[in-house]
Amino acid sequence: MANMEESPGVLDLALQEADKVAKRQKTCAAKTSGVVYKLINAVEDCLQRLSTASSSTGHNPETMEIVQNLVQQIDALHAISEVSSVTKELHGAVSKLAKAIDKAFPLDVTAAMRPVQMDPATLDRVVAEHLYHEGAFEVGDAFVAEAGVHGADAMKAPYAEMHAIIEEMRRKNLEPVLTWAERNSEALRRFERGPSAIESTDGLSLPSSFEFALHRLAFLQELERGGQGTALAYARRHFPPFVASGHLAGVQRLMGALAFRSKSEGCTDVGGDKVGGPYADLFGPGLLEEVIRAFRRQCCALLGQAQDSPLLVAVAAGSAALPTLLKLASVVAKTQPAAELAHQADELPVEVPLGREFVFHSIFACPVSREQSGPDNPPMMLPCGHCICRLSIVRIAKSATRAFKCPYCPVEATLGQCLELHLPEKRG
Ligand SMILES: [Zn+2]
Repeated sequence: MANMEESPGVLDLALQEADKVAKRQKTCAAKTSGVVYKLINAVEDCLQRLSTASSSTGHNPETMEIVQNLVQQIDALHAISEVSSVTKELHGAVSKLAKAIDKAFPLDVTAAMRPVQMDPATLDRVVAEHLYHEGAFEVGDAFVAEAGVHGADAMKAPYAEMHAIIEEMRRKNLEPVLTWAERNSEALRRFERGPSAIESTDGLSLPSSFEFALHRLAFLQELERGGQGTALAYARRHFPPFVASGHLAGVQRLMGALAFRSKSEGCTDVGGDKVGGPYADLFGPGLLEEVIRAFRRQCCALLGQAQDSPLLVAVAAGSAALPTLLKLASVVAKTQPAAELAHQADELPVEVPLGREFVFHSIFACPVSREQSGPDNPPMMLPCGHCICRLSIVRIAKSATRAFKCPYCPVEATLGQCLELHLPEKRG
C-alpha cells in the first residue's frame, strides 16, 4: 500500500495549503470589510452634508456638487476591482487546497462499503458510550442531548468514576483508587483467578496482583514523602497478605528499594549511575502509568466492557482491513456488480488478517461441515493431524466405533483415537 505509506507527507502539504487558505481568508475578509466601511462612511458623510445643505435653503445647487463628490469618492475606492482581486486570490488558494486534499486521499474508500442497515438508536448508544469511555464527558453530554439517547446517566456514571479516580492518581492521590479496590476486591480476585477461585477455599481470601501493584505504588509514595520509617510502617500494615498470595519476591524487592531512596537522603542516587540504582524502574514515572493502565483494564472488565471502547476497536479493525477490502472491491467490480456483492452472505471471499490484538474469541469452523465448533461439537484432531468437528467424524464414520478415512488424507482412524482440542480464550 504505497499510497498509505506516503500519506503523512502529502497530508502535511495539504495542511500547509489549509493554513494558506486561512490566511488568505483573513486578508480577504479584512480588505472587503474595509472597502465596505469606506463606502458606508462616504454615503453617511454625503447624507449628512445633504441634510445640512437642504435645511439651509429650499433648493441648493450645492446638492449636485455633494452627490458628484460622493460619486468621485466611490470611484476612487475601486471597490469592485479591490474586492475581486482578493477574492480571486482566496479562490486560487482554495482550489490549491482541494487539489492537495485529493492527492492526500487518493482512495475512494466508499468502494469498499456495503449498505448495512444499522439501528440508529444502537449506533447512538455506541457513540455515546465511546465518548464517556474516553472521558470526553462534555462532548458526550452534548451528543446524548442532541441524539436523544435514553439512559445515558447510567451509562456515564461508572466512567465518570473511573476518570475521576485516574485524575486523582495522576495527582499522586491514591486514596480513591485504594478505596475502589477495597470495595471491589472480591470481583478483582475473581477476575484474576477465573471461576475456579470460587470453588477453592482460599481462592478469594488472598489479594489480587492488581491490589499488590496499588499498594506497591502507595508504599513507594510513602517512601518518597515520609522516608524509610513511614514506608516501613506502611509495609507492616499492608504487605502480610501479599506475602501469602505469592508476592513474596515483590515485597522483598521493595524492602531492598528502601535502602536506595529515602527522604533523608534527599532522593539522591546511592546505588549506581541511575537514580534508585538497581531499583530505578520502581522510581520512574512509568510505574504510575502502568498502574493506571491496569486500573482502566480492571475497571472496564468489572463494567463488562473491553479496555478499549468497542467503537475504537471497530474503527481500528476497519482501517486495518480497508486495503484488502478496497482491493477486493476493485477486483470484484470488474466481474460482479457491487449491488450483487452487497446482497451476498456475511462471509467475504477473502481472508482479512487483522493481527492478534483483534482476536477476542478463538473459533474453529469445521472444514467439512463449515459449522462453527461448540461445546456439543468440539474440534477433534485425527491421528494424522487433520482437524474436523466431532459431528463430522460421527457422520463420516457412521458410528462412534467404526474406523473411517480422514477426509483430507488416506490415514484411517476411529473416534476413540481422536483428540479433543480446547481453544484458549483470550482474556481482557
Ligand atoms: Zn488426515
